[in-house]
Formats: sequence, C-alpha cells, structure tokens
Amino acid sequence: MPEDLIIVGGGPAGLTAGMYAARARLPVRLLEGGVSGGQLNNTAVVENYPGVESIAGYELASLMERQALKFGLEIDRERAVGLAATRGGFTVETESGRAYHGRAVILALGATPVKLGIPGETDYSGKGVSYCAVCDGPFFRDQEIAVIGGGDSAVEEAVYLTRFAKKVHIIHRRDEFRAAKEIQEKALQEPKIEVHWSYVPVAILGNDGTEALRIQSVKDGSEQDLPVAGVFFYVGLKPMLIDGVRELAKTDDRGFIITDESMACSTPGLFAAGDVRSKVLRQIATAVGDGAVAAFAAQHYLEGGRHTQLG
Ligand SMILES: Cc1cc2nc3c(=O)[nH]c(=O)nc-3n(C[C@H](O)[C@H](O)[C@H](O)COP(=O)(O)OP(=O)(O)OC[C@H]3O[C@@H](n4cnc5c(N)ncnc54)[C@H](O)[C@@H]3O)c2cc1C
Repeated sequence: MPEDLIIVGGGPAGLTAGMYAARARLPVRLLEGGVSGGQLNNTAVVENYPGVESIAGYELASLMERQALKFGLEIDRERAVGLAATRGGFTVETESGRAYHGRAVILALGATPVKLGIPGETDYSGKGVSYCAVCDGPFFRDQEIAVIGGGDSAVEEAVYLTRFAKKVHIIHRRDEFRAAKEIQEKALQEPKIEVHWSYVPVAILGNDGTEALRIQSVKDGSEQDLPVAGVFFYVGLKPMLIDGVRELAKTDDRGFIITDESMACSTPGLFAAGDVRSKVLRQIATAVGDGAVAAFAAQHYLEGGRHTQLG
C-alpha cells in the first residue's frame, strides 16, 4: 500500500517533518540510511538551539527521534538510492532493493563535508585525517592537531578539540573568521589554540599515519610544516543527493535543491527540507523550521492543493 508521505533522511529536518506529519495523522514513513539525528551526531555541544542552553548533539538527536516516535512516526532503516516520478506520486528505491511508493515525498537528505582534495587527504583518511571531532577527537589526547576552516563548525570544533589535544592549530585562508563572534571569542581566548591567518593547507605528510601538515601563506607563498598527528577539515558542505533528484528538482550551482518558501520543489508533490536545500543558513533551528513547513505543505498538497499558500 502506498504511503501518503515518504520522508527521506532522519536528521533534524526529517525528524521534524515526520513528527508534524505523524501528529497530523498522515500515513507517513521515514527512511534513514544511517543513525537518526544526522549531523547532530557529529556535533559535540549545541548551544544555540532555542530553549536548550547546552546539550550534546547525540542527546538532542535522540530526544528528537523519541518525540517523533511518540506521535507514531514509522522509521525504516533503509538507504534510499533512487527517486522516480510514477503515476500518482513517487517511488523511492533503497539499497536493499525495496521500493517505497508515496503520493508526496520530502527530501531531508542533509549534507556532507566537502573534501579539499590536497595530497595525503585520502591516503591518511582514518589515519589522522578526520571530518568529525566528536568521533575522533579522543584519539589525539596530548598531541598537536590542526583544524582547517574559519566558519562556525571549524572554530567551535577547534575549541572542543582542546579538551584532548595539547595544541590545536587553526588554518584559515582569510585574516578573520566567518564564525559567530561569541564562538570566535572563545577560540581566541583559548591558550591551546594558535591561528594561522591567511594560510591554506597544501599537503598532509607522514608514513603510517599523519605526521605533519604543510601550509602555505596566501600572501607571500611561503610554506611551513606543522608537526601534527591529526587534521580536521571543516571547509564546507555538499548536498547528499540520490539518483533522480536532479531530474525532478531544480538545483543551484553547488547542487543544493531549490524550493519555494513552502519547501516545494519544481515537481508537484516533491518537497525538500534542511541542509540539502539551497538556503543562506544551515543550522538545526533552520532545519527543523524547514521540516515543519515541508510537512504542513505536503499535507495541504495531499489534501488537494498544488502549490500551497502558507500563512
Ligand atoms: C561539526 C558540526 C557542528 C555543528 N554545530 C551546530 C550547532 O552548534 N548548532 C546548529 O544549529 N547547527 C550545527 N551544525 C549544523 C546542523 O547539524 C545541521 O544544519 C543539521 O543537522 C541539518 O539537518 P538536516 O536534517 O537537514 O541534515 P542532516 O543532519 O545532514 O541529516 C540528514 C540525514 O539524512 C540521512 N540520509 C542521507 N542520505 C540518505 C539516503 N540516501 N537514504 C536515507 N537516509 C539518508 C543521513 O544519514 C542523515 O541522518 C553543525 C554541523 C556540524 C557538521
């Protein structure tokens, strides 16, 4: 039997959409290919989610999942691999060979870290190169490490990594951070952090594991090797897309899905929410907002309207 609504992805956006839809008693099923909570599970501490002063990312993830399940959301542990428009809706195919049919679909696939592609990055992946401070930080107790980037995630995770590391080098290509001022202040006051302004990483060096990071000045081209055992990359995100999405939804030049303000994609009945969407701010608060709107708009779509006017 086809569901009314299939949600693909169980991060903050998908779980919120699922909670709203289940609470509205819509026949809904959510497909999650990994662990519910998505990027929350890679986030040490969340301090900017309204109403919760400070909480571990994985804990907020499990609270969100519990609340959605309480309202009757069905979650299947399935990784979607393809999306196709079929008569009366959509089919989502999964890695295990199952096909889910829904009259409407919300894509809440999230995003994944961009790789810089410098020499050594792939070779030393899992041998010092990481994209997740929460997962790998404790391996670097009393060692020197580097964090690449200057946005919220980079600077926040650098501060978190000072719990373990003897010294944390932040490599940033500009001469000021993009991160929120409060996060910047924490980092700049932290004695274990040294910022290398206007430098870019050019290679990771080592033998069996990472031994050094070569950085280059963007001002005069000079290079130096930092003796680090770990390098954490936070240089941006790319959308997690599945086959068929680009045929059914317009995307921007970086591949993020373009929606209108009711989260509707270019094909009626298809919606997108959260980090996978083309938007100005990728955060938990905006992901849950997108998820709520997408569920509401999908419900109206299923009740007969094509493009829903909200508000
Ligand atoms: C290190 C780090 C720190 C951060 N710190 C903060 C912070 O302090 N405050 C804040 O507000 N935000 C923070 N963020 C950003 C925040 O985590 C994201 O904006 C938010 O998680 C986006 O939610 P989402 O549901 O759109 O996507 P995601 O969290 O990426 O979730 C997407 C989900 O979809 C699943 N999925 C993907 N593809 C498939 C598929 N094919 N089939 C089935 N399932 C699939 C994934 O497994 C995942 O669970 C941080 C992010 C990172 C990486």
